[in-house]
Amino acid sequence: MAREPEATVGGVAVDTRHWIGGERVDSAETFADVSPIDGRVLAEIARGTGTEAAAAVAAAKTAFPAWAATPPAERARLLHAIADGVEQRLEELALVETHDNGALLRSHRRGVMPRVAHNFRFFADWLLGLAHEDFETRGHRNHVSWDPAGPSVLITPWNAPLMLATWKIAPALAAGNSVVLKPAEWSPLTASLLADIAAEAGLPAGVFNVVQGYGTEIGDALTSHPDVRRISFTGSVPTAKRIAASAAANLTPLSLELGGKSPLLVFADADLDLAVQLAVEQYDNAGQVCLAGTRLLVEDSVAAEFTRRFVDKAAALKQGDPRDEATDIGPNIHARQLDKIDGFVRRALDSGARAVIGGHRQDGLYYAPTLLTDVAQDSEIVQEEVFGPVLTLQTFVTEDEAVALANDTRFGLAATLATGDPERAERVTAKLVAGTVWVNCFFVRDLKAPFGGSRQSGVGREGGTWSFDFYCDVKNTVTAPKGWLSHG
Ligand code: NAD
Repeated sequence: MAREPEATVGGVAVDTRHWIGGERVDSAETFADVSPIDGRVLAEIARGTGTEAAAAVAAAKTAFPAWAATPPAERARLLHAIADGVEQRLEELALVETHDNGALLRSHRRGVMPRVAHNFRFFADWLLGLAHEDFETRGHRNHVSWDPAGPSVLITPWNAPLMLATWKIAPALAAGNSVVLKPAEWSPLTASLLADIAAEAGLPAGVFNVVQGYGTEIGDALTSHPDVRRISFTGSVPTAKRIAASAAANLTPLSLELGGKSPLLVFADADLDLAVQLAVEQYDNAGQVCLAGTRLLVEDSVAAEFTRRFVDKAAALKQGDPRDEATDIGPNIHARQLDKIDGFVRRALDSGARAVIGGHRQDGLYYAPTLLTDVAQDSEIVQEEVFGPVLTLQTFVTEDEAVALANDTRFGLAATLATGDPERAERVTAKLVAGTVWVNCFFVRDLKAPFGGSRQSGVGREGGTWSFDFYCDVKNTVTAPKGWLSHG
C-alpha cells in the first residue's frame, strides 16, 4: 500500500518526498524526522540513495542550458517571485522550522524568515548590477563576465536550515545554475516547502531539486558526480573532509563553510555591560551557531566583575518551549547532540574545569547554559567546537597574550572584541585570524560582505560578488581594436 506522502506539522501540510525535475518522487525507504521540542515524530521522510541523487543531478543537467540562457532580468524576476512566496508563507515556514529544529519561533518569525526572503531579493538585485570595469592592455579591451558554471550541489546543516540553504540557493540560481539541495536529515521540512514555493513562483522544472536522506547514504553519489560543477557545503569539518575527498574525483570546485571556536575578547577599557550582553548572546539558538564566540577571553583586571554581571544576566534567560514568545533558549536538536555536548562538559569537569553556571542536562533535550573556567588552552573544551550552550572563560594580562590565545586553535571563522579604544581595535583586528571580526557588536551580517572561514573553518568566501565568483566560471574576453595586426 502506498504511504501517505504528506505530514502535518504545526498545522502546515508538508510533502515528505523528494522534489526532482518538477515532480514529487518517493523512495522505497523512509526515515523518521523527530521534533526536538518533545521527541514526537513529525514525519516519515523519503530516504534517498544514489538512485535519487543521480535522478536529481540528471534533472538539473537537463534544465541547466535553458536556465543559463534565461536573461538575467527574468531570472531576477523569478527570484523576487520566490521571495514573495516566502513572505506570503512566512508564518507557516516559521512554525514548521521551529517544530523541526527547535529554534525560537520568535526568531524565525522576525529575523530568519524575512532574511530568507531577503536572500532571494539581494542576489536577484546583485545579479543585475554585476559588472567589472573593462580595462585596456595595449589597446585591447578586457571584458570580465560571469558564466553560469552548471548543476550545483548544495549541502546544508540543521542549525539554521532554510536561512543557510537559501544563502546558497539564491546566488546559485541567480548566477544561472541549476541546483540540487540536500538538506540535513534532522531538519528537512522547510526545504520541501521551498520547493513548493519555487514551483508556484514559476521556476522551470529541474532548475531547483531537493533530495533528502542521510549524508552518509546519499552524499557521495552527489559529490562525486561528474556532471556536478559546484559543491557548496555548510557543516562540520569531518564531513567537509569526506566531501573534499569525494569531489577530488572530478576536481569539482568547493565552497566550505565549517565550524568554529571563535574568541570573544573583552578588554578592561570596554563598556562592561555591552561586553556582558555580547557574551550572553553566545547562547542564542542554544549555542548551535557556527559563529558563536564560545571562548570568552577577559582582561584579568575586570574578570571578576565581568563574571559577576555575566552570571546575573545569564540567570535571567528563560529556557523552555521555543514556541513560547518569552523563551530565550530552546532545546538542542537531537539526543545525540545533547550526549555530545554533555560529554564535552563531563570531560572538562573531570580534568579540572569549574562550572560557574550550568554544567548539566535539564529535562528533555535542554542543556543548562554553561560557563566553565579553570580551563587549559590546550584542553579539548577550549580547542574543539561543542555546538551547544557552553562557554569557557580565560583571562589575559597583555594585548599580545589576548591575541595569542584568540588565534590558538585550528579554526578561524569569527572573532568579537569589546574595547573602548578604537586604536586597540584596529591593532588587534589586524592580528586576528578570522573571516569576520565584530568590534563592539555581534552577528551583524550584510549579504554584500564576504563570509567564510580561515584555517579549518572553511574554504572560500560567499556574499555579494564573491558568491558569483564561486557559482560562475569567470571569463575574461580580450578584444583587439579595429585594424589591429596581431603580429604587429
Ligand atoms: P554535518 O557535517 O554533520 O552535516 C551537514 C550536512 O552534511 C548534512 O546535510 C548531512 O546530511 C551532510 N552529510 C553528512 N555526511 C555527508 C557525506 N559523506 N557527504 C555529503 N554530505 C554529507 O554538520 P551538522 O552537524 O549538520 O552541522 C553542524 C556543523 O555545521 C557545525 O560544525 C557548525 O559549526 C557548522 N556550521 C557552519 C556554518 C558556517 O557558515 N560556517 C553555519 C552553520 C553550521
